[in-house]
Amino acid sequence: MTRSLIALGSNIGASPSLFQDALKELETHGLMLEQMSSCHDTTPIGAAADGDRFLNAAAIVSSTHTPAQILEALQSVEHSFGRKRDVRWGSRTLDLDLLLHGDCVVDEPKLLVPHPALWYRRFVLSSAVEIAGSWNHPLLGESLQTLWQRLQERPVRLLVDETNLSFNLKDDVRQLDMPLEDGMALVELYSRIRRSDVSLLFGIVRLFPSTNEQPRLSHRHPRIGMREIPLFVDGPDDAHQQIAMLVGAILG
Ligand code: ADP
Ligand code: MG
Repeated sequence: MTRSLIALGSNIGASPSLFQDALKELETHGLMLEQMSSCHDTTPIGAAADGDRFLNAAAIVSSTHTPAQILEALQSVEHSFGRKRDVRWGSRTLDLDLLLHGDCVVDEPKLLVPHPALWYRRFVLSSAVEIAGSWNHPLLGESLQTLWQRLQERPVRLLVDETNLSFNLKDDVRQLDMPLEDGMALVELYSRIRRSDVSLLFGIVRLFPSTNEQPRLSHRHPRIGMREIPLFVDGPDDAHQQIAMLVGAILG
């Protein structure tokens, strides 16, 4: 049996019982519930944020499944709940992600384990740390508790590397379309940051041109020990918006 850490997310209309129902259904797919976090009412991020509240939780399940089989089970449960609730709440009623699977690393086009956004999304880590604080992130070499503490540090310094793009970013990436408390977040352009400052960074945002084949989850694994956040963007406006969403996910 291997233990897996699962993230549960839902948009408005969800109640904690939705997650309990989903976990019950996962048991019919052979994923046995060991522990569930409390439910966190989180602020939504990005342009879609129209005042709705989001609900997040995490759970530890154990199984003899491969990571690919676990993803299949998660998607099957996502779809069955999506269908049931479609009329009222739309298709994103339930989002299930595989965050960690033992100390396993998977790097396939449709499956990345650890989940690449686990370490910097406040709405994911806040639940995960509750039940899996001592679990080690096999690529970053730090416990979830340590990663959670890093998320509390201010200011959040992100270095934005735009050298792979054929277009220029908007003049001031710092003027994000979201309210930032002064000194809370600091986004610097790659060219403006000095090498000696790199140790102070929360992470490096590497911008890549988006391609048609890019899956919706436009992430890649950070290189071992490196805190890299790849973003796939199709123009200056999109880059601006995605960086704003990222900062929102970090600050929470
Ligand atoms: P997000 O969960 O970041 O909001 P989506 O749920 O829309 O994004 O992403 C779904 C896609 O992500 C699926 O097609 C799936 O193949 C891919 N994916 C890659 N790695 C994972 C993972 N660890 N857990 C869940 N989905 C994953
Ligand atoms: Mg998902």
